[in-house]
Amino acid sequence: MRILVSSIFHEGNSFSRLQTGLANFATVHGEALLEKVSQGSSALAGGCRALAAAGADILPGVSAVAPPGGPVEDTVFESLRSEILSGLEAQRPDGVFLDLHGAMVTESLDDPEGALIAAARRALGPQAVIAVSLDLHAHVTPAMLECADIVVACKENPHTDYDLAGERAAGLLVETLQRRVAPVTASVWLPFIFGAQMETGRGPLAALHAKRREMMAADPRLLDISIYNCTTLVDVPDGRQCITAIADSDAEVARAAAVELATLFWQQRDAFVSDFMPLRDALSAVAKGRIARPVILGDQGDRVLAGTPGDGTAILAELAAHWPELEAVVPVTDPAIVVAARQAGIGAEIEEPLGGALSSGVEPFRRRWQVAGLGDGRFVQDGPYLRNEPAMLGDTAILRSGKLTVLAMSLPGFTQDPAAFRSQGIDLADKDVVVVKSGYHFKISFETIGPCLVVDTPGISNYRPGLLPFAKRRPIHPEDAISEPRLTARIFGQLA
Ligand SMILES: [Zn+2]
Repeated sequence: MRILVSSIFHEGNSFSRLQTGLANFATVHGEALLEKVSQGSSALAGGCRALAAAGADILPGVSAVAPPGGPVEDTVFESLRSEILSGLEAQRPDGVFLDLHGAMVTESLDDPEGALIAAARRALGPQAVIAVSLDLHAHVTPAMLECADIVVACKENPHTDYDLAGERAAGLLVETLQRRVAPVTASVWLPFIFGAQMETGRGPLAALHAKRREMMAADPRLLDISIYNCTTLVDVPDGRQCITAIADSDAEVARAAAVELATLFWQQRDAFVSDFMPLRDALSAVAKGRIARPVILGDQGDRVLAGTPGDGTAILAELAAHWPELEAVVPVTDPAIVVAARQAGIGAEIEEPLGGALSSGVEPFRRRWQVAGLGDGRFVQDGPYLRNEPAMLGDTAILRSGKLTVLAMSLPGFTQDPAAFRSQGIDLADKDVVVVKSGYHFKISFETIGPCLVVDTPGISNYRPGLLPFAKRRPIHPEDAISEPRLTARIFGQLA
């Protein structure tokens, strides 16, 4: 079995003005890809481990991973897609395993992953097996399911199981090639979106996942059930909730499972209500010693992990105005101030507006800063989410004023991981407040450092019905009044 493996991993945000370019991607090719997956926790790493265990010959393509952000530039996606396709055409593998996010958008495509999978199918013909692992925040499309044999999501949010999703997808690829299984997929789309209670271990999704596990345990013909919670911040026609069930040779088994779970999900559609903490309440609790320090605050409105630029200043402004006694560190994406700090040098003072240059409606924060450090923004993540995966913040500058420390970054980055701060020389232990641009994943990476709270801040990643200019993603609940849908499954696969 000769299997080509590749990854393009990016979660889109249609409402960010900051496009995603080549500089945002950590990219490796060929032998360097094999080196990377030997350590990593991505789906690509898990998939490669499963393929190696099955004795497959792994043909490395490309791995390109960027933090979530605005639409990917067309030229960047085209160059990654053609690299994968030329690999397929030159090597003619028996199968391909793709680790994709599933909610990428480009300047001109709403479903670039569907287009990539379709092109891979055209290149390889009907006999080859195509397996794909996705993030559970994917917008799953008919194009993906028509052209791939196996599409599997991770199951946990915060994501701790990308590698398991990769193992599962690659394992099914092997079993399909060996004709031990014949996967058939049933898929039900649900016309609603939500922006809170998105964790799978608590709230409405916990019960749904318990039911999923129960159904899988009860019927060995079920090969996978994936519950997709399409990211709230893409404006695409298929951007809705989706349940897929894969069964071995039996479309009815898949259909029954997908429809049963989809019906339960639809009944829960109004349970996903915001429970984020008011910012002032959180800072007051810290100041009054009611909560252990450092407290880690997830900036719900400006989550780079939902594709915002990370240049929000709401928490900085609140700290400066009302809580000057708190020792705090706040990351802010602002390439201009990083350049100014580097020109001034360590120890110098600068007075430049900070933040607000990349997002609409964000007030820049003004203050005289001392440049306390400079860095290259490179680090390796060490939390459970993307452990051992390389990441970058672009060039950085550490700015100090009173008890405020700012980690100024040139690129929006993965600050849900403590290594983002430590690698740039920031000690977290002496802080009262550590701000991160994440709403979920930081909880698993920072839980040993301090209590983790998500605070209710303004910004495009704090979803409230009626505020985002959705055009393609309509009609959808709760943006629109819609009639009760008939929850029927579409069937995909060689047996469909
Ligand atoms: Zn996700």
